[in-house]
Amino acid sequence: MTGTACTRGVPLDTLVEYWADRGTTDEALEEHVFACAACSARLGWLAALEAAMPGAVERRGGRRMSLTADAVEHLRRRGVRLREYHFTSNREVACTVALDDDLVVSWIPVDLADDEALSGALVTPDDREVARFDDAPIDRTRRMFVMVAAAEELLRLPDIRLRLRLTASGPRGARDLDELVFDHTAPR
Ligand SMILES: [Zn+2]
Repeated sequence: MTGTACTRGVPLDTLVEYWADRGTTDEALEEHVFACAACSARLGWLAALEAAMPGAVERRGGRRMSLTADAVEHLRRRGVRLREYHFTSNREVACTVALDDDLVVSWIPVDLADDEALSGALVTPDDREVARFDDAPIDRTRRMFVMVAAAEELLRLPDIRLRLRLTASGPRGARDLDELVFDHTAPR
C-alpha cells in the first residue's frame, strides 16, 4: 500500500527515471528511497507493473503514461490510489486532484483503425500547448486510450479548462478526432 506520503516530496517522475536507469546512481536519492516507505511502495508497484506489462511505464521524461485497462486493474490491486475520469457519451469532465492521489486515469474511447496511430495535444484556453504526445500506446482490445498522469504534476495546476485534441494518423492521412475538455478545479 502507498498509505503514507513521501517525506521529501519526491515526484513520481523522479522515481520512474530512477527505476528505469537502474545502472546509474544518485546516492542521496537511493538512500532516501530505501528509507522512505512511500517511495519503496511506489518503486514496488512500478516494478510489478513493468513485470506484468513490459514497456508500460513510458519514459519520455517519465511525464505522462498511457496504460491498458489490465495494467490499471493491476495497479488498483497493488493499492495505488487512482482517481478516474470517464469520457463515455460526454466530451467534458469536471476534474480535480487530491494530495493523497497517486495517479489520475482518464478513460477515453477512441475510434481508430488498426493501422492508425494516436497523437494529441493538451491546450490551454489561450491556445498554448502544454503537452503533446505522438503514437500513444492505446488499449486496442478495448479501443480505449487510457491516459495516466502523476497526481503531483496535476497539483501544480490552477483552475483551468484544458482541451485535449486528438488526431488519428495512418496511411490514408491524418484526421481529427474528438476534442475533449478537462474542466479542472484545483484542490482548496
Ligand atoms: Zn520518499
